[in-house]
Amino acid sequence: MQILMSRLYLKKSREDALNRRHPWIFSGAVERVEGQLQTGATISVCNTSGTALAVGAYSPESQIRVRIWDFDPQAVIDKAFFTRRLQAAIAARNKQKPNSNARRLVYAEADGLPGLVVDRYADVLVCQFLAAGAEYHKALIVEVLQELLDCESVYERSDVSVREKEGLSPSAGLLAGREPDELLRIHENGLHYLVDIRQGHKTGFYLDQRDNRAFLSSCSQGAEVLNCFAYTGGFGLAALAGGASSVTNLDTSAPALQLAARNAQENGFAADRFVTIEADVFASLRQMQSENRSFDIIVLDPPKFIDNKKQLDRGARAYKDINLQALKLLRPGGLLFSFSCSGLMQVPLFQKIIADAALDAKCTGHIVRQLGQAEDHPISLNFPEAAYLKGFCIRKREAGHGY
Ligand code: SAH
Repeated sequence: MQILMSRLYLKKSREDALNRRHPWIFSGAVERVEGQLQTGATISVCNTSGTALAVGAYSPESQIRVRIWDFDPQAVIDKAFFTRRLQAAIAARNKQKPNSNARRLVYAEADGLPGLVVDRYADVLVCQFLAAGAEYHKALIVEVLQELLDCESVYERSDVSVREKEGLSPSAGLLAGREPDELLRIHENGLHYLVDIRQGHKTGFYLDQRDNRAFLSSCSQGAEVLNCFAYTGGFGLAALAGGASSVTNLDTSAPALQLAARNAQENGFAADRFVTIEADVFASLRQMQSENRSFDIIVLDPPKFIDNKKQLDRGARAYKDINLQALKLLRPGGLLFSFSCSGLMQVPLFQKIIADAALDAKCTGHIVRQLGQAEDHPISLNFPEAAYLKGFCIRKREAGHGY
């Protein structure tokens, strides 16, 4: 029972965001706080005259001072609360058909659980506690997850820099159950992938690209594919499964490429159809032009180039550069799959960057499809920040059509 909850008073006329059910309260909107203020503890959020509006998690070191747990000011944030929210998130996933035993079960704010990510890889849950409130309730959340889901292990991958903004240090390791195998085996659309949940990026695998892998696969019959920023071969394998004649995978990470090659082997693809090259994409795309190489399909799925507003211009130039170089290597009639996972890169700007790249590459094209994150990474209407992955599938046209 929460008896004496601390209270946070908003400045006058600063409750707009709350009225729109946006779950963040920035430090600039806070008039004062009263009571015992423990990092991550539950606080009652009031308007300037003291009327309670919502309850959230208090994070004194973060610019996002409160993340709202519930817009009902009477809500109690206890085991029953987490059980309800987690049940709802899981029930939503159970309505989806990912053709995989790996999926995101909880996507933080978009599932009403700010700062909490839970990904399922077969029988293992991998969690990230990215904000003070989620961290504060970690033990309870892990307990409820074990009660609701049949799983062998709950593992933590909160070794990410965003935790610094919350005054939290990195944290990773086993939280419950048995120590997971070194590599987990998942399946997706008839392919097997080995996932390294300890050393891998994010929680181990790019679950957000699932639908885009499937779409690439459906376009790949007979194609010679260049997979840039290949990581463990997600797109590359999907292309081979769809009948690509060969895939060249570029990445700077040797361990990622080793796992990619092993993934190709595990699925029975001949080594000469799946080439891995440890190289910088920016340099390789130029080098390949000088060698007069060309491809039917090129995938560009770079890491996040933009972390904050200051990096927007530099990031935009980097996106333009790889798209320009890739379009030069693409055969007329070929397909470019170009992504950005930077939340700050808006779709219209990204489209313009690709259009500018095409002009410079002296070609044009049609948008075959606009691409986004898989539905287990939902974007809630009151939290548009949940949208981060965007992409375009572009068909390059022959030059000289006059339009
Ligand atoms: N497409 C992948 C995910 C890509 S993540 C998938 O769907 O699974 C980004 C990858 O880019 C990482 O594997 C990282 O090692 C690699 N990378 C980052 N900078 C690079 C560069 N300049 N050249 C080549 N690879 C790079």
